[in-house]
Amino acid sequence: MIDDSQFGSRDRRGDWLPHDPVAYPPAPWRLHLFLKWIFKIPGYLFPWTISYVALSAVIWLYATPSIETMRTFSISWLAFLLARNLVVVSAVYGAWHYFLYIKRTQGSRFKLNGRWPAVDNDTFLFKRQNADNLFWSLASGVPIWTAWEAFGYWMFANHYVRWIDFHRNPIMFCAIVVLIPVFHDLHFYLVHRFLHWPPMYRMVHRLHHNAVNVGPWSGLSMHPVEHLLYFSGVLIHFVVPSHPFHVLFQLLATGLGPARGHAGFDRLALNGRQTMPLHTQMHYLHHKYFECNYGDGPLPLDRWAGTFHDGSAEAKERITRRFMERADRMGIGRKVG
Ligand SMILES: [Zn+2]
Ligand SMILES: [Zn+2]
Repeated sequence: MIDDSQFGSRDRRGDWLPHDPVAYPPAPWRLHLFLKWIFKIPGYLFPWTISYVALSAVIWLYATPSIETMRTFSISWLAFLLARNLVVVSAVYGAWHYFLYIKRTQGSRFKLNGRWPAVDNDTFLFKRQNADNLFWSLASGVPIWTAWEAFGYWMFANHYVRWIDFHRNPIMFCAIVVLIPVFHDLHFYLVHRFLHWPPMYRMVHRLHHNAVNVGPWSGLSMHPVEHLLYFSGVLIHFVVPSHPFHVLFQLLATGLGPARGHAGFDRLALNGRQTMPLHTQMHYLHHKYFECNYGDGPLPLDRWAGTFHDGSAEAKERITRRFMERADRMGIGRKVG
């Protein structure tokens, strides 16, 4: 039997407080620790990055139209990509949601927010957080992801951008795959900071933040403008010589990653005896306190910018003070905590 108290405790509100503070991975010059982080489970590669690579490989081989077909836009292959992405998103987000929120396989154990997602709340479409989040994910998120994907393939199919081939440049090909999550972190951070610029926040990003008590479907629940920006990291492949597979993998990892990131649980109970950390607390704290943890990956960008919240009481105090000062300067009256 798992002893929960080994990993954290619940506060008066019923929220889960993990004992371990949020931490960045070791710096590359601490080579031994760094390599351990790359290869351990869960670490940089396993299990999530490798799963997305494997899924991308299967999709590339069996569920992507030939590159010749995609030289000219046509409804048939565009509709195919859209349908395929809807199936993938429904399956992956649906699985997270089904096990954690419908079947509730681990109950409230390690659930960061003590409550379950809101029903009968006017903030959300259909008055239900899950239905609202599902709507924005499928009606806006997947079509915009698919549009970026189709545009990427079309650019490669017409040789408007430089290709590299796995057979001729295997090292470069693999290096790009491995570095995509790092690049995504940087891109996400920059886009996210822009989205917290007050006019953008009010018009666009507020929709994503409606979910304070996040669940898997909250991950891709964004305003269409945010979807457009969120998936735009794929433009890197028009600059760095790449392969259409990189377009597929980048969009897939970017599109599916938020399901885990917004799972709302600190750890996954694998069986009666083992648990696995989900590394969700960093972004959960962003949804809770807004003005911290804009990044959600391996680069210590928030630490450099002074916006890092590791979950401790000291960090909470620092971030709240910073937020109040900023709110005073900008005339924003929003409640924190
Ligand atoms: Zn935000
Ligand atoms: Zn989020």
